[in-house]
Amino acid sequence: MTKALQTLKEKLAVISDFATAEGLLSWDMEVYMPPKGAEARGRQLTTLASHVHALSTDSEIGRLIEEAFSHSDNYSVEDKALLREAKKDYERDTKLPAPLVEAFAKITSEAHLTWVEARKNADFKHFESVLTRIVDLNKQKADALGYEGSPYNALLDLYEPGLTVAQLDPLFESLKAPLQDIIKTIAGREKPDFSFLKQEFPPDKQLAFGQQVLKDMGFDFEAGRQDLAPHPFCSGTSPSDVRLTTRVYPNDLVSALFSSMHEGGHGLYEQGVALHLDGTPLGGGVSLGIHESQSRLWENIIGRSRAFWTYYYPKLQAMFPEQLNKVDLDLFCQGINQVKPSMIRVESDEVTYNLHILLRYEIERDLLENKLKVSDIPDLWNSKMHDYLGITPENHAEGCLQDIHWSHGTLGYFPTYTIGNICAAQFYKTAQTALPDLETQISAGKLLPLREWLKENIHQYGRIYEPSELLQRVCQEPMNSQYLVDYFKSKFL
Ligand code: ZN
Repeated sequence: MTKALQTLKEKLAVISDFATAEGLLSWDMEVYMPPKGAEARGRQLTTLASHVHALSTDSEIGRLIEEAFSHSDNYSVEDKALLREAKKDYERDTKLPAPLVEAFAKITSEAHLTWVEARKNADFKHFESVLTRIVDLNKQKADALGYEGSPYNALLDLYEPGLTVAQLDPLFESLKAPLQDIIKTIAGREKPDFSFLKQEFPPDKQLAFGQQVLKDMGFDFEAGRQDLAPHPFCSGTSPSDVRLTTRVYPNDLVSALFSSMHEGGHGLYEQGVALHLDGTPLGGGVSLGIHESQSRLWENIIGRSRAFWTYYYPKLQAMFPEQLNKVDLDLFCQGINQVKPSMIRVESDEVTYNLHILLRYEIERDLLENKLKVSDIPDLWNSKMHDYLGITPENHAEGCLQDIHWSHGTLGYFPTYTIGNICAAQFYKTAQTALPDLETQISAGKLLPLREWLKENIHQYGRIYEPSELLQRVCQEPMNSQYLVDYFKSKFL
């Protein structure tokens, strides 16, 4: 290893330590911080964030990257990848001019409150001018970051490196008709009574059940923990310290369990990254879409499968005998797999969810490509909801004002959710081929073989392989939406 690479690694490790300390303070803010701590915590986080920014944009880092690159021919695959990621991070952090970063910070701090008010009153006009400014700043951001083809590519690349509109358009287009067909077919079916899911289920028992499933999935509680928070999320400081949160409702049986499995899937990814990558740009998941593929694989493909409940349902019944003894496995599985078009993305089922994402993607892409004005969003939103899901929002609060993302200034993020679903089905199909008795094992409560396969093939590499390369290595083909369609068809038709 050259001196330049060695020095670069040492500096990056320091930056990583500051950044993870910042992450831990944020986790604590959501989980344990008493209300009066907010002001001091805000100050501490700002200090750390500006320190991290200063360290990571220091021109010395740029110089070391250049120098290390000039000797990189003989580096290992891992060192080459480290350099590639360090360069990408450095360029992303230094390409944005300071006035643009400041304008972004100013508008987004203002936008959140404006959005909250606008949503409360279902008044899009109230949010329109702020959103117009946010879209405009995102266009400037795309220009500063640089792109080929659509300006939206520059934003996509922040969350799903290497992915472009040219790849996404056909991928998403190929989902539309099959998903609409499935939804129409299901809509014609008779609906049993699923009110058994909404009885009184003591929260402590729900949490205990979820934690047992997490243990069975292989989540290491010696290298992580689960706490309560208003929003479920996963964060961590290293593979040996991963934090999950969940929330629990006394009259909803499955919300806490599925959020535990979802965040647990993220957590297994973080715990599975090879320990020696910790503190380098390679430590952690490679992209939001691949990360989401892990959470959705556990939550939906496993957690809502009949095989999984063949083993776990008797245990759930034993825990809640009064509530569930008269409900058989069939009815329970139908109950947790209801498919029905609804207005709100975060409350939607695993099939209709993707059409919510497609709609948002098309709107964001057209905004960036100057094919759509912000003032035209509400009408377009409603007509797309009607076309894709056959329902029309009664007001903008349950329509185009429902998501927080745009008020954060974030465009380009939504597609990663459906990328996650597509990759989850594709990875699972590959795992089934590699482990022919996988389903038998799952129906016997043995979840570790799947976890080991995911770790071996995906998790351990962290960011060594870019998403498209990782998919190619694991599945021997590029991203393919057919597996998701096949999975839905075999499950719901
Ligand atoms: Zn997630």
